[in-house]
Amino acid sequence: MSQCKCPVCDSGQLEDVFAFPSIPVFVNVLADTPEEAMSFPRGKQSLTQCTRCGFVFNRDFESEKVQYADGYHAERAHSGYYSRHMQEVIDLIEEVTPLKRKRVLEAACGTGEFLSLIAQRGATCIGVDPSAPGIQGGGLELHQALFDQAYLASMTDPADVLINRHMIEHILHPLEMLRLFHKALAPDGILYLETPRLDWILENRAFFDLPYEHCAYYTDDLLARLLRTAGFSTAAVKFSYSGQYFSICARKCDCIAMEDAAPEQLAHIKSRFSETYQAYRNANKRSAVSSVPENIYLWGASAKGVMCSNLLEHLQIKGIIDKNPHKQGRSIPGTGCPVLAPEDISTVSTAVIFVENPVYLQEITEGARQIAPQARVFPLELLLEHGRDGTPAHM
Ligand SMILES: [Zn+2]
Repeated sequence: MSQCKCPVCDSGQLEDVFAFPSIPVFVNVLADTPEEAMSFPRGKQSLTQCTRCGFVFNRDFESEKVQYADGYHAERAHSGYYSRHMQEVIDLIEEVTPLKRKRVLEAACGTGEFLSLIAQRGATCIGVDPSAPGIQGGGLELHQALFDQAYLASMTDPADVLINRHMIEHILHPLEMLRLFHKALAPDGILYLETPRLDWILENRAFFDLPYEHCAYYTDDLLARLLRTAGFSTAAVKFSYSGQYFSICARKCDCIAMEDAAPEQLAHIKSRFSETYQAYRNANKRSAVSSVPENIYLWGASAKGVMCSNLLEHLQIKGIIDKNPHKQGRSIPGTGCPVLAPEDISTVSTAVIFVENPVYLQEITEGARQIAPQARVFPLELLLEHGRDGTPAHM
């Protein structure tokens, strides 16, 4: 049932800003067969903005459709760029609080790849996630559980540092979750929070960065107000991952009442959403024109790749390349597009590869040169901006 009240401030004043009528509910779960992929569960992404606090959320989100369990793969350590990103944010945390001998809890730790790096800095680490593998040893302990009120009640000692990466965009009640983090921390404890920046998505008209799994979106302004309301003061902040993510260290303190969003900020976000929707329509129109290179591949079978495969419906994508062996040989939800290993295109003489995320362009271009030197590699932006009808001469 459609939400009619803001889950953050309870206001009934909501304004619709963007909609995809039907998209696969997961971008980090792949199908075993093309048939399974084609019948993947779908949902409506109906983004609405609360005109009081500014929270942007999917009012048609059905959480029961999105159950995180085994098979959910959001890790990207196969990329050198992503590994550097993780080390950089750990350095940011250590600028605020040295990790050695600290008790660190990660809520929604996934397979524990980030937490194992924290353990290497000498911290005692506990991770909680429904899809966590049962690991214990080397200063690392993973629990297969949800981080919720019941888990909090079972904790014997508070955490010195609480880490939460890429989770609050998956929940409709972020303020309640931030308050649980507040309770789980020792006095003066530090929260490290990482989440996509809505400002970046809208500035870049990145319509493929609005997947169903992400039912909640945070502007820089809203996240700052939410943290203050939950009882956190910012200690360090960085727009990481080339500006796509918020990396924020916040210290536990007293909470204040939620402040309303400024009207000009609300109007700005609304108009940016409208431009982003227009970019989606334009890209789709362009991808329907027929004079394009035949063997088009995308690189990266995660959120952006799954969304592009589904949203650019006229584009005949031959496959999505990914270095993660867990993903290779499987199928993209919604379209059944195959996930390939880089080696699979080594003999395709006319392969044209589009790289979805500009941060990986250099790394992928260099990797492709080794494995498939005949392939031509371009940023996806080029396809979206110029498309099939205005294909640049050098393609
Ligand atoms: Zn609100």
